[in-house]
Amino acid sequence: MKDKDCIFCKIASGEIPSTTLYEDDDFRVILDLGPASKGHALIIPKEHYRNLYDIDDELAAKAIILAKKMVNKMKDVLGCDGYNIVQNNEEPAGQTVFHFHIHMIPRYKGDNVGLGWHVGELTDEVKNEILEKMK
Ligand code: AMP
Ligand code: ZN
Repeated sequence: MKDKDCIFCKIASGEIPSTTLYEDDDFRVILDLGPASKGHALIIPKEHYRNLYDIDDELAAKAIILAKKMVNKMKDVLGCDGYNIVQNNEEPAGQTVFHFHIHMIPRYKGDNVGLGWHVGELTDEVKNEILEKMK
């Protein structure tokens, strides 16, 4: 399925040009236009899925395998010191393009890439509440 109003559908199909690092029948991997660091890239499936909530299982599995291949190659190409894999779902989580994608963000010693959170505390109350609801 494609969405005629979706920019990533158009990028994945090649209708909108992109800096493509890799392409196969299922995915296009491109450089992000607003990179968090040098080499920040996106894995974009050619089929339209809004995010992880609805992506096809087989495609999701292929996407993470492709991420593994890409970071193994790109760490050598870029000479980076680490990698973050980020995947945002829905607006409160930072999703701005509503077509599933995986961010591959190279990390360099001493960089100021602002990924992270304030470390909280897992209380017994919250732990028990979640465990109860998971049943
Ligand atoms: P997210 O916030 O997880 O939805 O990520 C969307 C990402 O897409 C952001 O990092 C943007 O910089 C990137 N982006 C948006 N439009 C384009 C585009 N035309 N080409 C490359 N990257 C884009
Ligand atoms: Zn799309």
